[in-house]
Amino acid sequence: MSEPQGAAVDVGRFADGVVAGDRAAVARAITLVESTRADHQQAADELVSRLLPRTGHAHRIGITGVPGAGKSTFVEALGTRLTAQGRRVAVLAVDPSSVRSGGSILGDKTRMARLSTDPAAYVRPSPSAGSLGGVTRSTRQAIVIVEAAGYDVVVVETVGVGQSEVAVAEMVDTFLLLMLTRTGDSLQGIKRGVLELADVIAVNKADGKHVADAQRAAQELASAIHLLAPKSLHWRVPVLTCSARDGMGIDEVWARVQGHRACIEAKGELEAMRLRQETQWMWSLVHDRVLRRLRESPAVREHARRLEGELRARGMTASRAAAELLARLGWWDGEG
Ligand code: GDP
Repeated sequence: MSEPQGAAVDVGRFADGVVAGDRAAVARAITLVESTRADHQQAADELVSRLLPRTGHAHRIGITGVPGAGKSTFVEALGTRLTAQGRRVAVLAVDPSSVRSGGSILGDKTRMARLSTDPAAYVRPSPSAGSLGGVTRSTRQAIVIVEAAGYDVVVVETVGVGQSEVAVAEMVDTFLLLMLTRTGDSLQGIKRGVLELADVIAVNKADGKHVADAQRAAQELASAIHLLAPKSLHWRVPVLTCSARDGMGIDEVWARVQGHRACIEAKGELEAMRLRQETQWMWSLVHDRVLRRLRESPAVREHARRLEGELRARGMTASRAAAELLARLGWWDGEG
């Protein structure tokens, strides 16, 4: 009798350890979901399916901001407050720079020294291998694992550059944008797309001689976001100031983050949003897998190479080439 793939991983034992809240088991389970080995991914899928019924109760919070905005200082300050109140906090990271460079900025353990050693917290650096798509997949699965382990606040941190904010916004309930004051030009350099994703905005480093600047920046931002299409019909995005270093304004930011979740839950938007996220996720998995299979197929590769040659020689348009490739697979009938 042939062994089923993934038999080397005892999924039941993994699941029991996670549900018991055993930190080492949580770490091992996340390592499993981060693995790119086909048998590990299969085992990871099975593990996640088993744990899924135990999830859904945590508040999932995304946090973004440019490097140096104070994300880890903020998460450390917020996380230690929450654990002191009896909450259990997990911090995950999606760091596209780690994907490119193989070294994680967000993963630097010393950045959250107190939270990392807090027994009521679990801090996990971003995986530093694979594509952004791969990191997104494993982070989604890691959310399931930490929720099943009983963490009731899940923070997903990401750098405010590139595509990773969109990926994170699609896996959380509330998205917090940390901003910096730059006198006079606080609105420059912020991508409109990132502002549109935010549910709560906080201008950090409102301390010392920067308090007035931060307040001015917050006011400017508050008027700027009125011009954007609202993400929710029922929630007005607040713009606050805080100092993660001094612990000022953190409680207020947290109150608004909780307020956002309570608001969308009461209006039925939370459930609808999570369903939408799951559906989007399903399609993005289908997209990735189909594309991978296609690209790996020798017949497609050969045909594509020929078409690429014709594109280069300008004997073919991209849309004709795409149609021809799909028609060859029997996937395109000339419609659409
Ligand atoms: P991240 O890259 O967004 O995670 O930013 P860090 O949390 O690593 O912070 C970058 C730098 O800004 C560090 O030197 C922090 O000590 C400092 N910093 C973070 N928050 C504050 C704050 O509220 N006020 C001031 N003055 N400095 C801060």
